Amino acid sequence: MPRVINAVLPRRAEPATIVVEDGRITAIEETSAGGGPTEAREGLEVIDAAGRVVLPGLINAHAHIDKTLYGGPWVSAPRVETVAERVAHERRHRDSHGLPAHEYISSLVETMIAAGTTHLRTHTDVDPGVGLRGIAAVAEVARHYEGVIDIQQVAFPQGGLITNPGTLDLLREAVDAGASVIGGLDPAGFDDAPNAHLEAVFDLAASTGTAIDIHLHDGGSLGAWEMGLIARMTEEYGLAGRVAISHAFGIAHPPTQARLLERFAEAGVALVNAAVYDSPVPPLRACAEQGVLLAGGTDGINDLWGPFGDGDMLRRAMLIAYRNSGRSDEELLLALDTVTSNAARVLGVEDHGLHVGGPADLVMVEARTVAQAVAQVPPRRLVMRAGTVVARDGALVAG
Ligand SMILES: [Zn+2]
Repeated sequence: MPRVINAVLPRRAEPATIVVEDGRITAIEETSAGGGPTEAREGLEVIDAAGRVVLPGLINAHAHIDKTLYGGPWVSAPRVETVAERVAHERRHRDSHGLPAHEYISSLVETMIAAGTTHLRTHTDVDPGVGLRGIAAVAEVARHYEGVIDIQQVAFPQGGLITNPGTLDLLREAVDAGASVIGGLDPAGFDDAPNAHLEAVFDLAASTGTAIDIHLHDGGSLGAWEMGLIARMTEEYGLAGRVAISHAFGIAHPPTQARLLERFAEAGVALVNAAVYDSPVPPLRACAEQGVLLAGGTDGINDLWGPFGDGDMLRRAMLIAYRNSGRSDEELLLALDTVTSNAARVLGVEDHGLHVGGPADLVMVEARTVAQAVAQVPPRRLVMRAGTVVARDGALVAG
């Protein structure tokens, strides 16, 4: 029955004591002066945060762990420009690198856990070439780390859906194999069949009770048009709160941005973005003001698409704030929401957050304020999942 004392929590003025029983938070109260030693004398297990920040479990709303080379030999990424070229490069080389590789996926997942990630949505390639091997590999890793990190799979038609015969049937099989979300990919720009692509995705989600998360790199007026179509279909299929658009680069199209945000709020469509490279990032403040859920992800990490990434969700919150020129404490907290509360809602994780009755999922950060934790991405001192310490100082605790 541990208690964490002298913890600085988001949106709370005074250092707090978090009381944990049976994996849950049973009280959050002001830390009494000199409370630590007293409580220790009473035989309680006391973890003294000593004025450090304690955050809820961090959530990665968009990754591709099936593709990763993390922990393996260095593989140079190609110099190519388009999504289609990157997909083709991956198709040519993934088998020779042994992908999907259980060892690399595990290595990445362990790194994510040590940095405080408790929940993860990952888009797993499903196509006639790889079949369901990625789904199976990720499911096996998810089982291994069950109770430490919750991994949700998106059945992702990375190689196209309408243009890649056989993929739709495999997506259905992927749902039977445990995928709980249906993915999509640039219905117009990549698959060249926006209506057929989206109808297939929405029909499959509606008939299987799964959620939807569509990659949309298409920008400008094309991307804006597709996003309007997704909002309309979300309403028509009655899937409010179960549809996300990942990347959503078209949201940067100034003539339609305000109207689209209004539509997303009305239709219950969320946005997921990883603040990658020089690609557009949705407006943090405007999303919060309009009531549009914006969640953060990492996208691919050290794979055939690119060399970057470490899976650290605080770093991703920092990048989302940075790319929004969000310098104020208030904006840094909004950025933290993208990898905590907002991401929880996008993933449908109801059991999340630092509140009485909530899960004892805690991340202790070497920072004095929450804004500093986001801005400077300091080391994680401790990660607790359901009341059990699972990592200390960036390394998993054995057992
Ligand atoms: Zn992606």
